[in-house]
Amino acid sequence: MTQQPICTTCPYCGTGCGVLASIDGAVGLKVKGDPDHPANFGRLCSKGSALGETIIPDGRLHTPQINGQPASWDAALDMVADAFSTTIAKHGPDSVAFYVSGQLLTEDYYVANKLMKGYIGSANIDTNSRLCMASTVAGQKRAFGTDTVPGTYEDLELADLVVLTGSNLAWCHPVLYQRIVAAKAARPSMKVVVIDPRRTATCDLADMHLALKPGTDVALFNHLLNQINDLGAVDAQFVSAHVSGFADALDVASATDGSVTGLTDSELAAFAALWIGTEKTVTVFSQGINQSDHGADKVNAILNCHLATGRIGKPGCGPFSVTGQPNAMGGREVGGLANMLAAHLDIENATHRDAVQTFWSSPTMAKHQGLKAVDMFQAISEGKIKALWVMCTNPVVSLPDADAVKSAIAGCDFVAVSDLSATTDTAVLADVVLPATGWGEKDGTVTNSDRTISRQRALMSPTGQSRHDWEIISDVARRMGYEGFDYETPAQIFREHAQLSGVAANQGKDFDISGLAGISDADFEALQPTRWPVRANGAKSDRFFADGGFFTPTKRANMLPVLQPAPKEQPAALPYRLNTGRIRDQWHTMTRTALAPRLNQHYGEPFLELHPEDALALGLRPADLALVESLYGTTILRVLVTDRVAPGSVFAPIHWTGETSSAGRVSVLVPPSTDPTSGQPDSKAAPVAIKPY
Ligand code: SF4
Repeated sequence: MTQQPICTTCPYCGTGCGVLASIDGAVGLKVKGDPDHPANFGRLCSKGSALGETIIPDGRLHTPQINGQPASWDAALDMVADAFSTTIAKHGPDSVAFYVSGQLLTEDYYVANKLMKGYIGSANIDTNSRLCMASTVAGQKRAFGTDTVPGTYEDLELADLVVLTGSNLAWCHPVLYQRIVAAKAARPSMKVVVIDPRRTATCDLADMHLALKPGTDVALFNHLLNQINDLGAVDAQFVSAHVSGFADALDVASATDGSVTGLTDSELAAFAALWIGTEKTVTVFSQGINQSDHGADKVNAILNCHLATGRIGKPGCGPFSVTGQPNAMGGREVGGLANMLAAHLDIENATHRDAVQTFWSSPTMAKHQGLKAVDMFQAISEGKIKALWVMCTNPVVSLPDADAVKSAIAGCDFVAVSDLSATTDTAVLADVVLPATGWGEKDGTVTNSDRTISRQRALMSPTGQSRHDWEIISDVARRMGYEGFDYETPAQIFREHAQLSGVAANQGKDFDISGLAGISDADFEALQPTRWPVRANGAKSDRFFADGGFFTPTKRANMLPVLQPAPKEQPAALPYRLNTGRIRDQWHTMTRTALAPRLNQHYGEPFLELHPEDALALGLRPADLALVESLYGTTILRVLVTDRVAPGSVFAPIHWTGETSSAGRVSVLVPPSTDPTSGQPDSKAAPVAIKPY
């Protein structure tokens, strides 16, 4: 017998596609794209369409575990609460930390953030979203006064020029890519430019591929800004009315040497002419921009060009950040980063802190930023953080300098992990493992890259004794003696979150869903995809900033003078530059997508893209094994000889865990260097040495 399809949301990227899912007695979980969802209109990519094959009971944890042995929920929750309470009493609130995930639902994220910031009194809650889009958050806050994505997915189709920079959209956000493919097919005059040192699958759609030198994006966009000025394309009226910092930004831009990009004069001129000559331009950016030791500056270099031309917040115009994770945006909205408060409020602002504390009636409030992901694990290794709770993520595989992260977790006094399984690389190091519900069992909301809030709905009962993350966190909070965690449903949490957004709106912030603060349980259950803002009077608006209205104290946007950093010296012993990224058919550390046989057919093992000249010089042939070494670790990868990468540059996917050795676990190679503004690690430029294995 087949269940009536349930509308839910795919968990495998920030596109946030709607899914119609039903349990079929004969074949298990059947999925298809939701034709009415505004993110995908029925489309699904390979990962989304294989969802049914990744929701299987194999390997699921059924009961809590203490020291690897089954335990009762009471015993496990008591142990977590006692460990945190005792550590806080002895060493203070900053001696504990939560490391959470853009896979959590908004309601889970909200409760975790509330417990850490408002009750424990520390901001040591950070998330794997730090690896994803922290540089965009920092750049947008600097420019707009808040972390606002100005446009919508429709703008990708309305644009006459789509510039994709640092984004392999074809593999990482396939349905968005398909939407652009369809728009271009329907309107062939539409142009697509791909800016990427590597010739990715996205280049198949490109009218122009600019294979710039790695890490020279600021120079490219500064050159563009200079050309915008020289060719008289500045929107003087918009700048005069709504923008500060134009002259300083232009001063720096005019001193930038575009040739450091490695692009020819004619390539630079052709790009500038196309960009300047096309009013309806959207610049899409993603991890190639964000994952950099100057990622926030790269973001601002892009925003500067859109602000100078007033190309923002209008149909078919604007800068557009695409987030990697399904709920990176929801996490930002609840303040699930160490440098944010809830509802886009500012942790450094005493008025904002008081407003949130008053709203929560909480006993305390974190007064300063907490430790961002890389610093957090460094503090764990130094013994400064003594109790850690990891939720829904696998940092032993995903964080830079992953061997050091593994040692830090192994040496931490107390570690709890909430996850689907007790066998992830991180969970095996934990004192307590708490079985959490997964996709198909959870119920709540996520927000995608264009601010659309969608429901994830439960299709089936929780596996074994697994429980929802918000329930687990609330139970621990109550055991720690805190009031304010008597939640019974995700709808109740969503209403509180929506009410708090009204407090933020009163403080002049952008994130406002106070129009949903009174939503009934039945209406929450039936909630259709809804793009924020939804203001208290019910008013909605699709885009921000077409007529100014920025969220800075002056209501003007800031253009920032951003310098192209000098090229880094490549150590002679580590002559290759390692770029990392996703492949089309896998998600994160493969704990779910590897369960679907067809998703393992695209690439079946970890690989290293190596240019033919480098392969020849190294004596490596296709399918040989290569030993790849950095200052931080070593791994073994299968050689894929290709001119998709430039000589001296290599690429490897991030997904493999290397369970029995370091084979394939590329994050061991990545240095723990971060952007000083955003705290986001630079995962695109590790110096490495390569030799035959
Ligand atoms: Fe899921 Fe992203 Fe694919 Fe859509 S594009 S089906 S959200 S993985």
